[in-house]
Amino acid sequence: MITITANGKINLTLDILGRRDDGYHEVEMIMQSINLSDKLTIEKIDICDIILDCVVEGVSDKKDNLIYKAAELFLRTYNISCGVKISLEKNIPVAAGLAGGSTDAAAVLRGMNDLFDLALSARELCVLAAELGSDVPFCVVGGTMLAKGRGEKISPTASLPNCAFVLIKPKLGISTAWVYKNYREQLVKKHPDSNLMMGELAKKNLDGICGSLGNVLESVTIGTYPQLAVYKEKLCLYGAKAALMSGSGPSIFAVCGDAAAARRIAVKMRREYEELEVYEAVPASADK
Ligand code: ATP
Repeated sequence: MITITANGKINLTLDILGRRDDGYHEVEMIMQSINLSDKLTIEKIDICDIILDCVVEGVSDKKDNLIYKAAELFLRTYNISCGVKISLEKNIPVAAGLAGGSTDAAAVLRGMNDLFDLALSARELCVLAAELGSDVPFCVVGGTMLAKGRGEKISPTASLPNCAFVLIKPKLGISTAWVYKNYREQLVKKHPDSNLMMGELAKKNLDGICGSLGNVLESVTIGTYPQLAVYKEKLCLYGAKAALMSGSGPSIFAVCGDAAAARRIAVKMRREYEELEVYEAVPASADK
């Protein structure tokens, strides 16, 4: 039996460069793992089956769960004749722009690699991961990465300096597909510059990093749910250095200098907005 931590992610930048012939958008993003995480336990079973123990609202416990798909792909690819039982402890909010499903799938690949002693490299796992979803390769490796293509082409950048985050999750579940479908280039006021962000990361300049944050999908999600802009402003008013929507939303993360500052802001947000789930987190490194 093996237990794996599956970290969530935020986007320091998210830009759309264009539409591809295969229907996907060409993206450029800087992704960051955070320690808000799910826990998966994987054990071998004698029968040729995949048993999923997942009791989470809004998440299927059937074959359409990404955990199931990842396990099935792994067993098939490596001709493994026994099965697995996988239990999920879900802590990452669902449909929130924090890669909850993608990170669970990545954890299954990493966990089964260890459980079956295959010693596959991260590169080999990333090939499988790309079949499961655009964000899954990043979740296999984690840390701070530049992601291109449809998100599956990843390369490391310098890591964040010490800092902490407050994450807020409004009671809205947003479909990533819906956000991309409604994206209109002409509604974007400013595109983030990933090169600029990578330069600030290399200098470990937290203020420069905060000044370079940007997500073009805010134009769709915040355009539709303007209350999200109010939460962003409030986070900054309460002392955050900057706030941005993660992925396709609706989660918003606020960057703070340290965990104590994040705690103070989180307490105020919880007190003022009962409708929000509020989390405190720190960056997680690529140490998997
Ligand atoms: P991303 O940031 O990767 O686009 P997200 O964080 O916005 O994803 P998820 O939490 O991954 O959203 O959920 C997206 C959809 O995936 C949900 O509708 C959910 O039912 C489905 N899903 C399938 N498997 C899982 C899983 N293991 N955990 C969470 N959601 C899952």
